[in-house]
Amino acid sequence: MQKAFCRFFFGGGQSSAKWDNNAKIKCIFVIMSCFKFSHVPLTGLFVACVLSASLAWANPAVAAKQESSGSSKNYKMEKIIYTDKALHATTLDGVSKIRSNNDAEVYSAGERYFPVMLVETADFKALDSAFIARMFNEEGFKENGVYGSIRDYFIESSGGKFKPTFDIYPIKLPKNFSEYNSDSKFILPSIDLMVERSDFKARANKYEKVIPFVILHPTSKEQASKFNSNFFNHMFNLKNSAGKVYSKNGYSFNNYAFVSQKAENKPNATSTKDVAMLGAFIHEFSHVIGLSDLYSADANGYATIGPLPYDVMALGLRNGNGGYPPTFSAFEREAMGWLKPTEIANNDSVYELKNLSKMQAYAVSNPNNRNEYFIIEYRPAVGFDSKIGSSSYSGKQGKNGVLIWYIDYDARAFASNDPNRNQSHQRVEVRTVLTKNQESFTDFEFVNNVDKSSINGIFNLVFDGNDRVCFTVNRSKSLDKCPENEAESSSSAVEPHSSSSFAQSSATVSSSSVEFPKSSSSSSGSLSLVQNSVPKVQMRSSHGMLEVHVPVAGEKTLRFYDVLGNVIRAVSFEKQFVSIDISGQNRSAFVMLDVGGKRLLAKQVKFR
Ligand SMILES: [Zn+2]
Repeated sequence: MQKAFCRFFFGGGQSSAKWDNNAKIKCIFVIMSCFKFSHVPLTGLFVACVLSASLAWANPAVAAKQESSGSSKNYKMEKIIYTDKALHATTLDGVSKIRSNNDAEVYSAGERYFPVMLVETADFKALDSAFIARMFNEEGFKENGVYGSIRDYFIESSGGKFKPTFDIYPIKLPKNFSEYNSDSKFILPSIDLMVERSDFKARANKYEKVIPFVILHPTSKEQASKFNSNFFNHMFNLKNSAGKVYSKNGYSFNNYAFVSQKAENKPNATSTKDVAMLGAFIHEFSHVIGLSDLYSADANGYATIGPLPYDVMALGLRNGNGGYPPTFSAFEREAMGWLKPTEIANNDSVYELKNLSKMQAYAVSNPNNRNEYFIIEYRPAVGFDSKIGSSSYSGKQGKNGVLIWYIDYDARAFASNDPNRNQSHQRVEVRTVLTKNQESFTDFEFVNNVDKSSINGIFNLVFDGNDRVCFTVNRSKSLDKCPENEAESSSSAVEPHSSSSFAQSSATVSSSSVEFPKSSSSSSGSLSLVQNSVPKVQMRSSHGMLEVHVPVAGEKTLRFYDVLGNVIRAVSFEKQFVSIDISGQNRSAFVMLDVGGKRLLAKQVKFR
């Protein structure tokens, strides 16, 4: 198919940021730029972060001490002074291309299955596999003070659109850990053992064509780092760490999360009470499905507000002793293709903002740069988000409420896995959290200080329990309570965030086809679902071909989009029947069919 050329910079840079005297984070970024000759640029990255923080950052007592001792000078909300011309990283269809890891789009929707290697070595025992399986998968899992399982977390964050199942495979490597002191030396022999297992073979048809996976090493990250300084928790791919996509017995492997089984400073633990933080597993796996780190720091390495502690890709992963990582933000849900924020468009309406768990958020965009915008989301203190208020950072306390995020997406900044590197211009930042009735926000300012939104602010906030918040964008319009008729007020006040035709129709796509098949269930193994909203159009995939029957006259165009809205392919035809070669495509896609320039069908399909 398409040829890709990749350049690889290893050890591209190291930044070290200090949160306070007790907490420290180091991230190493290895940037791989890939250029698809006939396509938009692709970028992959190595994300590896070590959090050697003491408990201080999440400990209110310590935070209070810092506050009184004046260390809150480390906390700043700078005015934006950055004036670089923004990159417009949009596709032809005008949809922001947010996720840095392009491969991830194929496996972040629907029921998906991922192998997890639970490795032990001669000198370090693995934790109990039944426990690990429950921690990853069990609905409502609560042990060790966590709010839920890893699967629960992703179902909650996606509003049910992504349902991962993690299959745990215990692996026993025969030598001491120090003998396996590189990613490839540790991972490849583990894969070799896993693919021989009968339970793996029995389940392998559920996995992706190139299998993303999790590998859990049998000690703490500090201990592992003694064997190899890169052995802190990280996400990477075998294409780079082993020099190739690794294939064994007909199974191929590439992207992975490399995470310690044991808690900090518990290298030899055998009790499941000493398992590593839930937030650490979720953070690294979130890299596997495409998210960037969002840590933020000033020039001296001190924490700035950024998205702390509101985001699992920042220090939110430690909320509630790591058992309550905050769910994906509306921005991250947008990046995953799970949620489309609604652009605020009318100055005289009452806006209803639902709990983020209802997959609703608003946007206020720069009219001249669609990649720069604010997102307004409502996060009450429930579920995984319920420990935000007991987390602190640089002397400031987290808060639940209405979060106002500033987003300035830039492909290059995200590809570096460090979009918040520039303190004076963080690209993903919580500007404020509104917590009380009648509070307002009026700072919808864009980076160049010239572009203006027609929205002056949000005013007259009214909280209606954990379900919703109402507000106006007109200061003088009074509001004492949310309107009774929720649906009317929200739908009449708004228009989609994107003005492109794709974004508007994509809402139809996702709402009409949220469910994927549990697995490939066809007799030939090459079939898939195709559902039709327009009765006369028939689509069927069989033996690598997609057969399309459109019993009307006229010029027909069938476009395939990935979940980010990138056009994967476009086929035009006049006849009523066409057969398209889709062999080699292992992905889900949005399919849109236009006839004579009019949209006839928009569906999500899956090729197997
Ligand atoms: Zn990370």
